[in-house]
Amino acid sequence: MHVNIKSLRFVAGLALVASTFAHAQATFPNKTITMIVPFAAGGPTDTVARLVAQSMSKTLNQQVIVENVGGAGGTIGAARVAKAEPDGHTVFLHHIGQSTAPTLYRKLSYNAIDSFEPIGLVTDVPMTIVARKDFPAKDFKELISYIKANKNKVSYANAGVGSASHLCGMLFQSAIDTEVTTVPYKGTGPAMNDLLGGQVDFMCDQTTNTTSQIKSGKIKAYAVTTKSKVPSLPDLPTANEAGLPNFEIAVWHGMYAPKGTPKPAIDKLANALQIALKDSTVKQRFAELGTEPVAENRATPEALRSHLKAEIDKWSPIIKKAGVYAD
Ligand code: ASP
Repeated sequence: MHVNIKSLRFVAGLALVASTFAHAQATFPNKTITMIVPFAAGGPTDTVARLVAQSMSKTLNQQVIVENVGGAGGTIGAARVAKAEPDGHTVFLHHIGQSTAPTLYRKLSYNAIDSFEPIGLVTDVPMTIVARKDFPAKDFKELISYIKANKNKVSYANAGVGSASHLCGMLFQSAIDTEVTTVPYKGTGPAMNDLLGGQVDFMCDQTTNTTSQIKSGKIKAYAVTTKSKVPSLPDLPTANEAGLPNFEIAVWHGMYAPKGTPKPAIDKLANALQIALKDSTVKQRFAELGTEPVAENRATPEALRSHLKAEIDKWSPIIKKAGVYAD
């Protein structure tokens, strides 16, 4: 029998690549995992990410560190993840913005669905409409009439086009048929600092960023944006109750990896996420911040994949109707 040395070498080479790959996956994770948060440190997405990352570090027996890549409503961080090495050592914690950016941006360097591997949903966080401490309006009705009467003076903080605060602000302004000046930040962490300092008038942001400031009286709160009240903020009416019917938004968060990340790594990450969401420290802190982890069957790749698609379909006509676009 004639054996071709070249093809033997080729087959041996392939086998080596396959076994190295299998070994890399069997030993995954074998170095620090970077969790990209597409907003500034100290904000609500960052807060959720750090709590989850801490618990995942224990399960995976490797450090999971958070890196903040803020700007352009989360799209700069998303673009970074889309280009990262798909070996499981880069993960991405983003929110509802992953579903609104494809309609809001005329051009994106990535595809919100095809450039990522879903890992699982994390949490659904209510939003609150808040203002600087000395804002003149005493309740939600007054807030609306004050904004309408002073639209040229009032400023609204958000985390850029594509952020949850942008989406909430867009829905709010459209609901009250009034446009105000918007001040964009790299995340609502720095936006909150300016709200506390009185440099900006009001914003709509997740309870994971506003609860402690509301409770300590450092900012004024007017309403929550969910259907039901938030147990940790019992005095706050829903926007619906306070006079803005059908005004509802909750910020879902999901975890992804770059497209092409091997399934064994995705499975290990999803498992670590599910364990994190049952961790008593995470649960307790989430509750204090007005939210709770998703049920285990939603912290899965399949659930996030279908949720993301459904959310893109949900927001696309609403954004198109509002006519808001970014380049
Ligand atoms: N809450 C911000 C948003 O508007 C993002 C953040 O800073 O986490 O999307």
